[in-house]
Amino acid sequence: MAQPNITITRTDESPDLALRSFLPIITRFAHAAGITVDTKDISLKGRILATFSDALEEAQRRPNDMTELSEIVKTSEANIIKLPNISATEGQLIDAIKELQAKGYALPDYPGSPETPEQQVLKAKYDGLTGSVVNPVLRQGNAVRLIPSAVKAQSQASPHAMGEWTKDSKTVVAHMDSDDFYSTEKSSTMNASQAGRAKAVFVSDDGTETETVLKDDIVLKDGDIVDAAVMNRAALNEFLEGTMVDAKENDMLLSLHLKATMMKKTDGVIFGDAVLAFFEPVFDKHADTFDELGVNPANGLSDIKEKIQSLPDSQRQEIEADIAKCIDDRADIAMAGKNETHLEAPNKVIMDVSMANLARWGGQLPDKNGQERDTVAIIPDSTYARMHQAGVEYFQENGALDPTKMGTTLAVRLQAGGAQEYGSKDKTFEAPENGTIKIIAEDGTTLHEHKVKQDDIWRMCRTNDDGVKNWVKLGVEQARQTGNPAVFWLDEDRAHDVQLIAKVQAYLKDHDIEGLDVQIMSPEKAMRHTLERSAQGLDTVAVTGNVIGDHVTDYFPILEVASSAKMLSLVQLLNGGLVAETGSGGTAPGLITGEGVINGVANDNHFVWDDLGEAFALAESLKHMGTENAKTLGQALDAATTKYLEENRSPSPDGLDTRTSQFYLAKYWALELAEQSENRDMADVFILLARELELYEEDVLEELSANSSEPVDFGGHYAPDDRKADEIMQSSENLNRILAVG
Ligand code: MG
Repeated sequence: MAQPNITITRTDESPDLALRSFLPIITRFAHAAGITVDTKDISLKGRILATFSDALEEAQRRPNDMTELSEIVKTSEANIIKLPNISATEGQLIDAIKELQAKGYALPDYPGSPETPEQQVLKAKYDGLTGSVVNPVLRQGNAVRLIPSAVKAQSQASPHAMGEWTKDSKTVVAHMDSDDFYSTEKSSTMNASQAGRAKAVFVSDDGTETETVLKDDIVLKDGDIVDAAVMNRAALNEFLEGTMVDAKENDMLLSLHLKATMMKKTDGVIFGDAVLAFFEPVFDKHADTFDELGVNPANGLSDIKEKIQSLPDSQRQEIEADIAKCIDDRADIAMAGKNETHLEAPNKVIMDVSMANLARWGGQLPDKNGQERDTVAIIPDSTYARMHQAGVEYFQENGALDPTKMGTTLAVRLQAGGAQEYGSKDKTFEAPENGTIKIIAEDGTTLHEHKVKQDDIWRMCRTNDDGVKNWVKLGVEQARQTGNPAVFWLDEDRAHDVQLIAKVQAYLKDHDIEGLDVQIMSPEKAMRHTLERSAQGLDTVAVTGNVIGDHVTDYFPILEVASSAKMLSLVQLLNGGLVAETGSGGTAPGLITGEGVINGVANDNHFVWDDLGEAFALAESLKHMGTENAKTLGQALDAATTKYLEENRSPSPDGLDTRTSQFYLAKYWALELAEQSENRDMADVFILLARELELYEEDVLEELSANSSEPVDFGGHYAPDDRKADEIMQSSENLNRILAVG
């Protein structure tokens, strides 16, 4: 089959369910315009089944959609809409495997503590499915992220609540000052003779000079920036313990902010150290039991709570009492949810979003009594901590921003080819013993070397020269198109950024920047500068690296429009294609209904996932196609989303449901198409559809809202039964008939 015009990803949980009802609408509209739409399955279930295809019966096997997508993104015709998918934790992976096994898929068990080489291979295969593994494959380009103007306008008209920042706020970001990734980073730019296949090796201090290859075949090109950095575990643990003790003495609420979903091998380990530090007495006292149970601090407190369920009552109760005592004795810890502290599980608190919310809510977080309190926000690595501290200080001095007046921040994010830290997952290692870790280029040059102690976390990152060139170009383009200043968030005191600044300065010369305001500032200065401008109602283009871009694209939208879920992210693929991402991209979305969902059974038949992000992405994807009909469809969809917001058609727990909201969007879209006069043929086609949608509106709404308080069974959480789920999400016979194609 020829490549479809538009490819939409099937994902997990709420976005998957919502797509089941939205897809028939998309297909109907596209079909009328002669546009083909196809889907690719990147859900956790889909990825597990594709990876373990060999273990399955013939009929259960499926093509590897991820592999196909990785080829599609290299083509100039790529036009992909990426919905949020699960970045699985180990716990989610295990649950998904169990669910699939129960459904008759002969998948091997997940070997938590592998004992044989075969089990190690199996574990590695499964681990390749955890964390953020989809985005690095799809994001073969840099991204422009912005708040659609309709969303900004709506939020200014009916502003969201904001917390109050006061001058006596004691909130502070705690970070390490030495021995972290920031302080130990070494960076250089490859020259032609160093390019080729490099390797990372470990040389033990035991005197034998034996060299263990940690990773070889690391392809480095002329002009690439290569960095290496180490997190010293002893220093980390001293910092964690010291910060916890200080917080207790000062009666401050502790909170922990990491990105363990994306950075499992660094932040996941650091999270485990924080759990271990906080609950040290419990881990010490019950070391043998925890060993037997296979408790892993990196999985958080929830792992202990779950694993001790198999113990005799008295032993379990003793551990529970020791945990409770520890929580009482130590500094109060912030809550991430009902009965869940910040140490519950590594995916509960995600730094880019949690720090943005902290900024929104006056620098406060709830304690175990639900009391909002100032907090010591622990972000161990100072690379990102200091810009968040700059934000905290800005608000403490100036008070909260006013969402009705504040400017907007558009971000141009360097992410091509897994740039910087976000591409380091396969090049991150814990030192096996005391020794030295080196990166050796193909020509034998040692690019970087670090002395390490056993268990230190060493990582290597690569930033591709073509990606940087394209990023600078996009930054200048956005400054030109928006007429706003562009600020490159780069730190002249950070090793990696020194290399990047040299490139930015060189590549800016390739562009006409006459009359543009283009500056380079450290992330702290850029944060303050952008907030100051924003307070004056001024817009700014933030040109950032990969991780800081991930933060910035939550931070400003959460302040401006309360959420980053309605953001538009346009990945400009290096070969000319487009990946339009909805919302903030790869966050695990959960299942959202008024009453919640357990094991695939929703307690009510009322869904509140808002597809607006998908609609914005679809409009961009249509406009990107460039054909007359596609452009007409895309522009009409933009007008329809504006109307949707003006008429308050978003789903909510007490209001409309996802399906009803989608119906209104379809109606507005058809009406816009019917009423526009630029493309007469399309108007003729859509006049009929618009009439039908209006004519049957009452019937459709009645069918969609029937039984809305009844529980519904999807037949699974990770692997819902397609027939059941489609029936639930496509519950209006009239609408199904109107949308039927061919
Ligand atoms: Mg983010």
